[in-house]
Amino acid sequence: MPDARTHDMITIATAVALAPLAQIVQVSALGLTSFDARPNSAWVVIAHLISGVLFSPDLDLDSAIDNRWGIFFWIWRPYMWAVPHRSGWSHSLIFAPLLRLAYFYFVSIGLILGASWALGQVGIVVPDYPRQLSAAISGVTTDHPDASLAFLVGFCTGSAAHSIADWLVTSGKHILRGMGLRVTRDYRNHDTYMPRQRRTSR
Ligand SMILES: [Zn+2]
Repeated sequence: MPDARTHDMITIATAVALAPLAQIVQVSALGLTSFDARPNSAWVVIAHLISGVLFSPDLDLDSAIDNRWGIFFWIWRPYMWAVPHRSGWSHSLIFAPLLRLAYFYFVSIGLILGASWALGQVGIVVPDYPRQLSAAISGVTTDHPDASLAFLVGFCTGSAAHSIADWLVTSGKHILRGMGLRVTRDYRNHDTYMPRQRRTSR
């Protein structure tokens, strides 16, 4: 698979291309004015970048991506252990990014609950932050449905840019060849990933 740096460059290049595309779709297909479409386009691009850089599909293996979470890298460890590398759980186009978002939400709630419980044990009572967080998120989605949808769309495209790039340098090499690009490196075993059918044939 392309390495993290290459994936970052793909994420940034596709984000740049996505901005005018988001404008065109909203203006021509949804009938918004160019001015009204701008905030949604911005959310698409921001979510695309966050998804590609921080919530990359490669969180399913011990990679450069979880280092970006600093001391919180371990919150992705259960995900990494549970999700087979390059499976539909991590690399599908829509389900996988939404799964990572849901996973992150529930882990955050769990961490806040754990911290609140621990503080409660030493006599410090903290407000009900999990409930406040859930209320804040549902408030944002009901007050700003378009921006929320734009964020989800960008979150999916950020992940899809990665998954499609992975696919192009492995199974889709012939498409790149048709475009005059030749993949000289063998990426199939690049990140210790081996498709299931190849594993058994060895
Ligand atoms: Zn990947």
